[in-house]
Amino acid sequence: MRNFQHFNPASLAQATTTLSSKPDAWVIAGGIDLLGEMKNGIIQPGTLVNLKTLPNLDYIKFSESDGLRIGAMATLAKIEAHPDIRKHFTVLSQAAHSVATPQIRNVGTLGGNLCQRPRCWYYRNPAFHCLKKGGKECFSVSGENKYNAILGGGPVFIVHPSDCAPALISLGAEVTVAGPRGKRSMPLEKFFILPTENPLRENRLQAGEVVTEVHVPPFHDAGSSSSAHRSVYLKVKERGAWDFALASAAVSMETNAGMCRSVRVVLGGVAPIPWRCPQAEKTCMGKQIDEALAAEAGKASLAQAVPLGKNDYKVEMAANLIKRALLMCSASSASPR
Ligand SMILES: Cc1cc2nc3c(=O)[nH]c(=O)nc-3n(C[C@H](O)[C@H](O)[C@H](O)COP(=O)(O)OP(=O)(O)OC[C@H]3O[C@@H](n4cnc5c(N)ncnc54)[C@H](O)[C@@H]3O)c2cc1C
Repeated sequence: MRNFQHFNPASLAQATTTLSSKPDAWVIAGGIDLLGEMKNGIIQPGTLVNLKTLPNLDYIKFSESDGLRIGAMATLAKIEAHPDIRKHFTVLSQAAHSVATPQIRNVGTLGGNLCQRPRCWYYRNPAFHCLKKGGKECFSVSGENKYNAILGGGPVFIVHPSDCAPALISLGAEVTVAGPRGKRSMPLEKFFILPTENPLRENRLQAGEVVTEVHVPPFHDAGSSSSAHRSVYLKVKERGAWDFALASAAVSMETNAGMCRSVRVVLGGVAPIPWRCPQAEKTCMGKQIDEALAAEAGKASLAQAVPLGKNDYKVEMAANLIKRALLMCSASSASPR
């Protein structure tokens, strides 16, 4: 491993200035993903900028009027256990809980979870100079593609590994990033980029920028006793104990008198970005969701899927996850979103 410096910034400004002035500087948060990449020789930073020394970046704040604000350094364990998140944003609490193991969730942060690199084994294996690392070929196309993308793939076919990202996008979250030129915010959905835009990157962070906060806006309901908000995260893993998603579905829905009034459906584990499913949303809007409609929504969402040969199973799996998640969210009793 190459020698590197470890820099403990005292302020966000110090962190972003260092990151922008040193091209081989990398952010380290919990280090769960980053240190693995360093040990595998995938990246060789000259400097690590340690966000753990920044004050007040691990907060979780909730109010009815402002919604939910989570600092980038909040750990996944804190997120899954937070009573307001459990009560009001079930999908996020379930997604955070589904990540890896308790030990990893105690250390891993939300910022790190959103910015973690792909798990494709050609990318992670230093023996393969794949397209994702600046090479010429995505070896998954003709190789082992059991875990790769069925939607939005090309020219590389990674899947985005984050469980928290689909959940947060289903809740309409915004992300704030800070850099040498100040702060900017965008819908989390727009933060992630497809490989057609840049095969080497997964998000819109520019040089020197770090994620500082995720905000889930407050929910404006009709105030009617017949309206209900529900959300759910369903994930299929190969290993029961812990694993990345083969496929996952995050659904957040508002119903009124049993009718779907608004809904967001996002898939994980099937595309290079968390994959929003407008077809499913359109199918459900304004209707009472039953088994047949939920199945139709799932099927419609996967109509454009292009499996690679060994990942065909994901098509039916993802469609069924959408169906199940929609049915769970549309159950008639009023409950948290
Ligand atoms: C065995 C194992 C199993 C796992 N299973 C799952 C799983 O099931 N689901 C899942 O979602 N994840 C899983 N992960 C990934 C893990 O959850 C994430 O790697 C973890 O959340 C990263 O958090 P961290 O704080 O340790 O990030 P780090 O490792 O410190 O950073 C990860 C990446 O994000 C960048 N980064 C970190 N914070 C910021 C920030 N604030 N702004 C900009 N860039 C930043 C770093 O530079 C680095 O590139 C697994 C990891 C392991 C090792």
